[in-house]
This record gives sequence, C-alpha cells and structure tokens, in this order.
Amino acid sequence: MPSRIIPQNPIILLMNEPIPHSPSPSAKVNTCSCGVPLLGFRITRKFCLECAKVRGRKATANWYSKNRDKVAAYDSARYEIKKDYYSEQSKRYHAANKDEINARRKRWESENKDYLKEYGIAYNKTPAGKARAANGRHKRRAKMKGSGIPSAVIVQMMDDSSECPYCKSCYDSGRKKKSLDHKIPISKGGEHVLENLLICCLSCNHKKRTRTAEQWIEIVSNQQKSARPLPEPDA
Ligand SMILES: [Zn+2]
Ligand SMILES: [Zn+2]
Repeated sequence: MPSRIIPQNPIILLMNEPIPHSPSPSAKVNTCSCGVPLLGFRITRKFCLECAKVRGRKATANWYSKNRDKVAAYDSARYEIKKDYYSEQSKRYHAANKDEINARRKRWESENKDYLKEYGIAYNKTPAGKARAANGRHKRRAKMKGSGIPSAVIVQMMDDSSECPYCKSCYDSGRKKKSLDHKIPISKGGEHVLENLLICCLSCNHKKRTRTAEQWIEIVSNQQKSARPLPEPDA
C-alpha cells in the first residue's frame, strides 16, 4: 500500500506501521470493506482513506441535493455581491471567443430549425411574446411617422411601379397588390428614407418578413430555380 503520509515526519511514519503487538488478544488489524487494512491512526476508523473520500463526496452530494433551496439562496447572494466581477468576466470571455460562440450557435440553430420554429410560434402566443411584437410595431410606426416623407411621394412610387422587383409578378391582372417595403427592415436598423424604400407585391412583403432585400432576392431566385421544370429530353 503506498504511503500517503508526509515522509519527513517520523512520528507519522511510525503511526502508519501496523502495530506489532496487539494490546489485547481480542484486538486484530481491522480491514476496510474494500479489503485494505486499516493502519496507523486509521485503526480506530471504519474505512480506508480512499473509501472515506468516496463516502465523503457522496455525503456532500446528498447534502446538496437535500438543501437545494439553501444552496440557491447562497449562490444568488454570492452572485449579487460579485455581480460586476462576473459580468466583466463573461464579457471578456465572449469577446475573446466571439467567432467560436457564433459558429456554435449557428450550428445548433441549423440542427434545430423545427424546434426553433415551433418555439417561436408558441412564444408569440405568450403575453411576453405579444408585448414584444406590440413594442416592435410601435417603434416601427414612430420611426416612420417622424421621417417626414410625404405620403404623396409614396403614392407616386406605387403608381410608377408595374411589377414586383422580387418575384417579377405584374400588377395588371389585379391578383397581386402593391405594398411598401423597406430594403433593410426597420427592425434590423433600416431607416424610413427614400433610398431604403421599395414597392413590392404584398405576398413578397409578407413572406420577406425581417429579411433584407438582398436576402429575399436570393431566396426567391433559388425558389424559382428549383421550381423550373426539368428540360425535356430530345424527342
Ligand atoms: Zn476501503
Ligand atoms: Zn413579389
């Protein structure tokens, strides 16, 4: 058995030795349930050092699971005290590992698209989700109102447009309605200024949601490519 005692101390070295002459005939060298003999000061204990460690860890884990509330209260109190330090630490970590964190998030998002979609739909039905949407609408309207573009200019733009720049639908048939679109959505930091405005069909506008014009053009062109029928084989 390897000695776990500090070797410089001769007294402890001595204690680690098995006692050669038992003080009474009934006394014997005890062993731990794992089979290791209990030597030195361990002779009065029930377990060897290794088993005692394992039992200690188990007892600690047990205590933690029985006192979850106490532990949580302690943790949050400690967090309150060192809040600035923790937030500073976390900011530093995120700044140093930005690319890796983003890549990990993107990978997770692409692997959990269905879940995210369902989660989003469910979230939008909760009070918090509804409040968030209402707040967004309010901000959007306030921004558009304060921009000072006369509505006559918008009407003129609508009149001038003959086809949707995204899906190329013509408005002549009356099946597609015209609508005002922001190339960079206001929710993504776009401004309500003429350069950022575009007339497109209502269905594109709805489906585009918070994407930029550039992103939506790419999606539409990909859809049109895949919807195109395969070339007829030579007759
Ligand atoms: Zn043991
Ligand atoms: Zn369109």
